[in-house]
Order: sequence, then C-alpha cells, then structure tokens
Amino acid sequence: MTVRPITALLLSAALACTACQRTASPPADDAATASPAPPTTPRPANDTPAGQRIEADVAALADDAMQGRGTGTPGYERAALYVADRYADIGLQPAGDDGGWLQSVPLLQATVLAEGARLEIERDGRVTALALGEQFLPGVDFNRGESAVEAPAVFVGQAVHAPGLGHDDFAGLDLRGKVAVMFGGAPGTFDDTRRAFHSSQREKLRNVVERGAVGAVFVNTVDDEARYPWSRAVEAMGRPAMRLRDRDGRGIGTWPQLQATAVVSAATADALFEGSGHTAAQLFDAAREGRLRGFDLRGSVRLASRSRIAPVESSNVVGRIAGSDPAVAGEYVVYTAHLDHLGSGGGEDGEAVYSGALDNALGVAIMLEAARELTQGPAPRRPLLFVALTAEEQGLLGAEWFARHPSVDGRLVANINLDMPMLTAPTTDVVPVGVAHSTLDAVLEQAAAEIGVALSPDPFPEEVVFVRSDQYAFVRAGIPAIYLMGGVVGANPDQDPMLAMTWFLRNCYHQPCDNLELPIQYGDAARMARLNARIGQLVGDAAQRPAWKPGDFFGGKFGSGGER
Ligand SMILES: [Zn+2]
Repeated sequence: MTVRPITALLLSAALACTACQRTASPPADDAATASPAPPTTPRPANDTPAGQRIEADVAALADDAMQGRGTGTPGYERAALYVADRYADIGLQPAGDDGGWLQSVPLLQATVLAEGARLEIERDGRVTALALGEQFLPGVDFNRGESAVEAPAVFVGQAVHAPGLGHDDFAGLDLRGKVAVMFGGAPGTFDDTRRAFHSSQREKLRNVVERGAVGAVFVNTVDDEARYPWSRAVEAMGRPAMRLRDRDGRGIGTWPQLQATAVVSAATADALFEGSGHTAAQLFDAAREGRLRGFDLRGSVRLASRSRIAPVESSNVVGRIAGSDPAVAGEYVVYTAHLDHLGSGGGEDGEAVYSGALDNALGVAIMLEAARELTQGPAPRRPLLFVALTAEEQGLLGAEWFARHPSVDGRLVANINLDMPMLTAPTTDVVPVGVAHSTLDAVLEQAAAEIGVALSPDPFPEEVVFVRSDQYAFVRAGIPAIYLMGGVVGANPDQDPMLAMTWFLRNCYHQPCDNLELPIQYGDAARMARLNARIGQLVGDAAQRPAWKPGDFFGGKFGSGGER
C-alpha cells in the first residue's frame, strides 16, 4: 500500500494525499497506540491446503533472503524469479516481454542530498534562512542535479481547481514566474471521491505548472503532522524516489518547469506568512473549515537543492490463463498484486529488513492461490492475466506502466487488485473498496454470496484507499477496478479485527515488524483467494465487459481512454 505523505513523496507525481493517510483514528489512549505487542491474537492453526500454500508463499517472499524486495534491488529480482517459478508450477502461460515471464519497467531514481539545500525568505532586505531538517526539507528533482530558484511567492490555498464544485483556489491570483506556496488536501465539503482526486499532489502540481509557477513549497498543517509526524518526514529524506522513464531517459510525470521545491513544517509556517495579514493558525483553521483563500505573500523565496539521479531497471511478472471464447480473446481481466516493498537498510542499526509480510507478500500469495484455483476449473470466456507489480511503493509505477503498455495484444477490461490484506484477526467478511463506481459491484455481490462471505462498508471512507493502491493506475487508464480489503467483523469475540488493524497501522505499517511474526489468518486468506478467483471467473464469463456507472466521477474523468 502506498501511503507516502506529501513530505516524503514531495514532488512525486503519483498520488500523494496528505488528506488520505491511512491511519485509523482511535482515541489516543487506545490500547493500539502504545502496545509493543499485537493485541491478543494467538497464531491460528493453518489446516487447509490452500492456507498452507499461501503461507509457504508468504514465508518465501517475506524471508530475509528477499531483503524487503526493494524496487531495483537483487532481492526484488529474486522475488520476481520466485513468482515466475510459481506461475510455471501453477500452469500459467508466460505473458511478459518476448514470450517470457517478465515485463521490463524502465525507471528513474532520484535521491535528494542534504548538501546545498536551502530555503530562504527575503523581505524588506532582511533574509531569514530556514534550518534544513528542523524547519524545511528540499524536494527531489528528477530533471536536474542542481536546482535553484528565487521568485516572489503566492499562497494558493490547497491548489484546488474544481469548477464543477464551484471551487477555485486560483481565482484572482497570478502565478506566472512565482513560487506557489500551498497546503495539501482538499476542502472537507467535497465528497470522498472528489476530495481524494483533488488531494493528489499530481493534480496540485499540474495546476500550478499550468498557471506558470516556477517553484513550489508545500506547507504542512498541524493536522497533516498529527497523522504523519514531521520527524518521520525528516527520517525519510534520504530515501530515493522513482518515476517511470521515457525513451529519452527523462522522468515521466515530472515537472521540469518547477525549478525547485520544498516542504515546510507546520511549526515554521509563519515564517512564510509573516507580513501577509494572516497567521498560520488562522489558515490551518480556515483549511479545516473549507474557507481558505489565496493571497500574495510578501517578499521572495529562494530555494536550492541537489539530487542524485540514476536509471533503474525493474520488472513486472506476468502470467496468463487463455480464454475459451475467440470472440473476446482480446479482452483481458487483469489480476494485480504488488511484489515490491521498501527494501532494507535504515532502522536503528542500519540493517533493518522491511519484509512486507502483509504489504504485500500476502497479497501476492493470495493472487497465486486464486490463479491456481482458476486453472483447476473450466477456462472463462475472456483471458485472465496475473501481474506481480513492481514499484507500487514508489507511486504505483509498475501498475501505471502495465496499464499504459500492456505486454499482451488486446485491451484490459477489468482490474482485480490485492494489496496489504490486514488479516491478523479472524473475520466473517471483506471490505470492498471502489466497487460502486462500476458494474463490478453486482459481480462482487454474486461472488460473495456464492462463497458465503459478508460484505462490509469501508470503515474509513475518508481515507479513500481506492486511489492509494495499484487499482488507481488502472482507473486512471479508464479501466474499472475492484479492490478488497480484509474484514472488520470478528469471527471470534476475543479478537477484534478493527483493533488488530489499527494496531498494525500504528505500529508495523511500513516498519520492519510487518513480518512473519504477525498472526496471519491463513484461513481468511484462502477465503479471499476463492472470492477473488470467483470474481475473475464471473467477469471473464460475463456477456458484457464491466462498465462505469452512468455519471460516475472516475468514469467521467478517465472512462474514455484514460486521462489526458
Ligand atoms: Zn506499502
């Protein structure tokens, strides 16, 4: 699951949503907050063959030998070969490049360097230099090793342009040749879907670049930092960021017009607003209440940073089950689960391994089991693809590449994604995300009824998880998608799945303790494999391929061939 806060993902064009960080919000004194050990979750018996196969795959992929499956590392390559071997065992056909299992994904990596990073504000001949780390972090630049800009600054609120909702943060402002200073997120008056879309950093940067800005500064709000502390952003500063790479070696979805970028901590925000007649506290309140207005800032901003940029190669792993009906042989139903995770290094001793057992060894293992089940029955009319994706944690990059450049001839008609099933307490249900946007909702209802699993509403709709994993790369390419999360209704009164989930998100999400020690419920995992297999079978056999619901936001935005 990708949840890079705006600070860590600064200037990544991928979806970065400060408003949608996936942190459940129980009371601060909740047992989940401080507990160093999971809540009472005894390791369950794993007594079904399907559960045992899934466990074996999770154990292999989350093993130290895979070194956290970091994109572009030997550990990831080993994991990719493991998945290819499993595809062959299961009886899939290779469907990557040139008749092999792998589809190569060209990437560009950039790491921001501390040396030479600057953010200064000049006002009335007086220069205020912010302290690196403590007060600001430089943004990574995929287009130049040394970045610098000096320009007048303008505050553009949350940089949201939503004429359909009667909202324009840019009304009356001139950004040409200026540094755009902005908050993340989107007005709370927007519905969850629109708020998710307008919260994405990609949209904000696109907006300010279209209006002529030459630099960008994101300002954290206190609410942002309640969800993701500044200290964690500081820790993440040296981590490399990635983009897809085009034929000319340039990053796709980067913004060369922006000469330099940075993020400023909430505690430092007043340094930018001084003399404007507004305080940071007032603006934080206004953002919360959806009544933020932009204005010119006094003085000018100087930004500078250095980045180390290098090409990186990685691969998606692609297998196929041929369809049975030549009339729909070109209509692929695509299963996806990201294989990459955060790699290794860092931590207290610099040797931490980010095993990513739930995120997303488990999702890949469930996809493998669903594939195995689908090879056992009659082939559906449409062909099925199984894609273990790279670079999800870097911003859904493997998915974006596959959705735009499939390694098969034909069109992709549906995506069934698996990411970070938080199955650490037994449940009777699953939580579908995003299905209401398309006719996949009816398919899901049928499949769930047949398998005997209940469907529960998303407990955190405001977190808009639908735009935060690989399915969103398919949605952006106009392809209806379905994504199932683990359930929230306990099968055992002593084990509360919500508490287990909250504990995991607080303590182990994107941490070394997302590992094989977790009490993974392999029985629930096997049920999730059956359900996902059934969904694929039904979509594969359906008379019509899935379609967006009339008037749906994503259908309207991306439905006819994807985004501009
Ligand atoms: Zn993740």
